[in-house]
Amino acid sequence: MKNFNITTKYFKDICAYFWCEICQEILSVSIPRNTIEEGLETGLYIHSYYHTNPLYDSEDPEDRSNNPHTSLIYIDKNHDVRGVRSFYGREMSSDEIKKGSRIPIVIKEIPKMVLQLGMLNQEEFNILKLCDGNNSIENVAELEKIKLDELEKIILKLKKKGLINIITRG
Ligand SMILES: [Zn+2]
Repeated sequence: MKNFNITTKYFKDICAYFWCEICQEILSVSIPRNTIEEGLETGLYIHSYYHTNPLYDSEDPEDRSNNPHTSLIYIDKNHDVRGVRSFYGREMSSDEIKKGSRIPIVIKEIPKMVLQLGMLNQEEFNILKLCDGNNSIENVAELEKIKLDELEKIILKLKKKGLINIITRG
């Protein structure tokens, strides 16, 4: 059930069904196609969905899903859900990410021109977009559907170019 990520595609919108780890429910969110198209020019479109559990169980003392939380829904160019990250509040706190994991972070905003000039290829550009501080190297590999050792090579190259930094969660 964990990877329940599907979309229903309509003319103007898509309806993304996804599994929220906090709600422990399948939720749906409607996203206009043109919003996705704008976001997609740099790889995956990331939809941020701030919510509480519509099916919150007040009888269950372990259920904390009435606390507002955010699901980041990663949508690819086929309008399919590529992955979901859920965390309390509006920003992922450092303890959402496992201790000892390495987090690649973009140092500066990379203009689209870099891609047009051939300084980076599309894959490198997509990867940069995922290096927003919310994803460990393993998360990036999962979202970009790339093998970890291949990603390590690309990350190293981007680091040498001075585009990203890698921090280790202590
Ligand atoms: Zn939720």
